Amino acid sequence: MKIDHLEVINLRYEYPPAQRFAYAGGTCTGRLSSLILVHTDTGAVGIGSAYSHPGLVALIVKQQLEPLLRGRDPREVEFLWDRMYAVTRWYGRKGAAMSAIGGLDVAFWDLRGKALGKPVWSLLGGTRRNCPAYASALLWKPDVKLLAEEAAGYLAKGFRRMKMRLGRSEEYDTEAVRAVRRAIGNDNDLMADASMKYHVTLARRVGKFLAEQRAFWFEEPFQPEDIDSYAALRGTVGVRLAAGENEFGVQGFRELIRAKAVDIVQPDASRCGGISEVWKTAKLAADAGLSFAPHTWSDAVAVIANAHIVAAMPNGLTVEMDQTGNPMIDDLLVEPLRVKDGMLHLNERPGLGIELNDTVVKRLRTADPLAIPDGFYSDMVFGAEGLGPSAPYKEMP
Ligand SMILES: [Mg+2]
Repeated sequence: MKIDHLEVINLRYEYPPAQRFAYAGGTCTGRLSSLILVHTDTGAVGIGSAYSHPGLVALIVKQQLEPLLRGRDPREVEFLWDRMYAVTRWYGRKGAAMSAIGGLDVAFWDLRGKALGKPVWSLLGGTRRNCPAYASALLWKPDVKLLAEEAAGYLAKGFRRMKMRLGRSEEYDTEAVRAVRRAIGNDNDLMADASMKYHVTLARRVGKFLAEQRAFWFEEPFQPEDIDSYAALRGTVGVRLAAGENEFGVQGFRELIRAKAVDIVQPDASRCGGISEVWKTAKLAADAGLSFAPHTWSDAVAVIANAHIVAAMPNGLTVEMDQTGNPMIDDLLVEPLRVKDGMLHLNERPGLGIELNDTVVKRLRTADPLAIPDGFYSDMVFGAEGLGPSAPYKEMP
């Protein structure tokens, strides 16, 4: 099997006004993601995706990595990964280049599985055909009653775990957690994401409150660069500390683990370097006695790629599933993601076991992969306004 050519399809979706959502980062108007397809001489196509600046992903894949990879055997995943890393290291290591490498890595794993007639979870040594999944949404609402209604809806949809967004004000954060906990009872799990808005003293206060509320984990209270604050907080409040959506490469996670900064690492195959890097990170976490729970926010290919690793590893906790009505999650695959009794179903088909819905891909595809219309795309902002001034966080007296 030889690589013939690579294809980058940048996807863009604009939420209808009523569906836009607010959180500590701003008000999200749309979403972006990049599909990466590896076409081979046998006709087999590997599917991957990357969640980063879509224009940079397209440039890196088409301009630099395609000439390097053409004619190579995509089943030589580790060899190709090292080559891709070596040629992008000077400007890469963390960020868009690693995400582009990761998108290709996922597609290579898909092809390796297809060639061997085995699902990726089985190639990674797993035996489970499903993977725990959690509903990720519960963004800021004008009234916490609306959060309670939304939370009840996820239980009705088959979820047993869900994540909410804090980082608004101490009064809102605590009331919102109480409302969701009341709505889902003590038999279901609740996670809280502080969107990097806290300092250590505040995080200790809210962390103790989250422990009382039996939160499953406390996510990203601080900026990813502030490892010292993570290390200072960890183990002091009685709730597990989770982070890693902004970390790249196994080396990045090694530093996070060595600093004893977190209890749960959150690598994302579509961000940090693909299935290979998440798998290595998962093993590193296991050696340190830690769990991993991949971040995913971009598209269904990323959810599935991450789910295969969680299913394969004993310390894999759960995968994230965006529930904001993002069609890249809900509609991108011919067989949509299915959650029952809190579990995401994985099939026995070779590779990732997925097929893209071409009609949806065509509808969301941007005509020019380098052109990105202005907008607030959740984690990425394009346009004159940038991130704008964020409202100060109001603490309780
Ligand atoms: Mg997060």
